[in-house]
Amino acid sequence: MRGFIDYRMAKRALVRQVTRGAIAVEDVCDAHPELLRAAQNVGTPTHRTCPICRLADDRADVPLDEAETLRTVTYVFGDDLRRLSGHVVWTRAELDELSRSHRSFTAYVVEACLVCGWNHLVESYLLGRAHAG
Ligand SMILES: [Zn+2]
Repeated sequence: MRGFIDYRMAKRALVRQVTRGAIAVEDVCDAHPELLRAAQNVGTPTHRTCPICRLADDRADVPLDEAETLRTVTYVFGDDLRRLSGHVVWTRAELDELSRSHRSFTAYVVEACLVCGWNHLVESYLLGRAHAG
């Protein structure tokens, strides 16, 4: 994928700082209500555990909650998208359609936890006709 950036390293570094107490949980569990609404309604379950919920469960010594509460939401940004810039993409088909009908834009995949409000950028990549093939 063109322009692919993986933000997992940054995420791990941030979670490590929370584990050490250098950053407060409230400061990383600050998902915007609109992001949480999108995650609830159109988010894709990740089958991964929220790092902050896992930390809390470890500390409380309770079994891990296996519910699919960590979801990803994809946003698209770019001048070519005009009014659709900043828009949440609901389905893969919608993303493919945008890719065919616009020259260039960036997709940002954000993970958000429905339980604690943790949110972090997962990856970003370029889409559009200029990057096809
Ligand atoms: Zn969580």
